[in-house]
Amino acid sequence: MIEIKAHAKLNLSLDVVGKRPDGYHNLCSIMQSVRLADDITIRRNPDISILCDAKYVPMDQQNTAYRAAKLFLDEAKQDGGVSIRIRKRIPVGGGMGGGSADAAAVLMGMNKLFGYPFSFKKLKEIGLRCGADVPFCMTGGTCLAEGLGEILTPLPAMPRCSILLVRPRFPLNTKQMFSGVKMDAITCHPDTEGIINAVYNRDLKGICDRMYNNLEAFVPRKEIAIYKELLQKNDAMGALMTGSGSVVFGIFSSFEKARIAAEAFRALPVHTYITTPL
Ligand code: ATP
Repeated sequence: MIEIKAHAKLNLSLDVVGKRPDGYHNLCSIMQSVRLADDITIRRNPDISILCDAKYVPMDQQNTAYRAAKLFLDEAKQDGGVSIRIRKRIPVGGGMGGGSADAAAVLMGMNKLFGYPFSFKKLKEIGLRCGADVPFCMTGGTCLAEGLGEILTPLPAMPRCSILLVRPRFPLNTKQMFSGVKMDAITCHPDTEGIINAVYNRDLKGICDRMYNNLEAFVPRKEIAIYKELLQKNDAMGALMTGSGSVVFGIFSSFEKARIAAEAFRALPVHTYITTPL
C-alpha cells in the first residue's frame, strides 16, 4: 500500500499567448504548488477501482486517477490493477489542478508500488497524456510553464508567505473557459520576466505587484473582481484568480493577516482556506 499527497497548484501569473492549430492554447505561466492536498491511497487489486469522498467527481474511467492508472498499467504491460482512494480537499473546478494533481500522485505512487519501472522523464511523458498540468504536479515547487503547460523551467522557491484561498460556490469549467477566449481581445499581458526576477531576488512584493491572469477578463461572473478587491482591502499584498477559476487567492506576509482577512468573507457564499507555498 502507498499513501501519497496530491498537492494543489496556483498560477501566480497566467498569459494565454496564442491559439494552436489543434484548438488548444499556448500558455506562459508561473506555477506554484501549495500545501493543500488530496490524500491518495493506492493498493494492488485485481482491477482498477476508484473511491472518492467528493460530490461531482466521477468514480469511473473519467476520473483522472483512473486514466493515470490505466496508462501506467498499459505502458508497464502489467496485468491486474489498483484500488485508489481519494480524500478530496482541493476544490473541484477551482483552477487548482485537482484532477491533474491526483493523476500525478497516482503515477508517482504506482511507480513506487511496482518497483520503479519508469524513469521520472518517462513518467512525465505518461503524465502529459493525462493532462497538461500533470508534469508540473509531478515536479512541484515554483516553475515557469510554457507550451500547453508541459515545458517546465524550475525556479527558486517562492518567499515564505500565507495564502488565503477564496472558493466561490460556483465551479468554472476549464474547457468552456478556454473556448470563450478571443485572442484579439487580449491586450494586457503579465510581466513574466519581472516575476521571474522577483522570484530570484526573493522579493515577495515584486511578485505580488506583477500577478496577472488574462483569463479573468473572460469570466462572466462579477464575484471574481469583488473577491479580489476585498482581499486587497484586507491587506493582501496581491490577489488573483488561479488558472481558469473559480478560486481567487490573496498573498499575505503572515498567517495572522490571512486569518483576519478570512473573517471579511464570513458572510459571503464562499469557503476560505489558508495555505502556504510548497
Ligand atoms: P485545472 O486543472 O484546469 O485547473 P480544475 O482545478 O478547475 O482544473 P478539477 O478540480 O481538476 O478542475 O476538475 C475538473 C473536472 O474534472 C471536475 O468537474 C470533475 O468532474 C473531473 N474530474 C475527474 N477526475 C477528477 C479528480 N480526480 N479530481 C477532481 N476532479 C476530477
